[in-house]
Amino acid sequence: MACLFCRERKIGCIRPAEDEPDQTCNQCLRRRRSCRYPTESRRGHHARDRMTARKFLGLDDDAETPATEPPVATAG
Ligand SMILES: [Zn+2]
Ligand SMILES: [Zn+2]
Repeated sequence: MACLFCRERKIGCIRPAEDEPDQTCNQCLRRRRSCRYPTESRRGHHARDRMTARKFLGLDDDAETPATEPPVATAG
């Protein structure tokens, strides 16, 4: 995955090995920039906790609303 700088410029981002303490990519290294990577959740990662947080905040549209229907009188 390209870093934020390379993503904006659409340039080749070559990230060093994971065991490297300095994760600055080749482009940022040449420009002496601070290399930052987007915090995107990888596929296959369980992110159910975030979904429940949405519900807790009431961001869901399908919230349970009390029905205000008038009583129906059935003659019979
Ligand atoms: Zn980069
Ligand atoms: Zn970078």
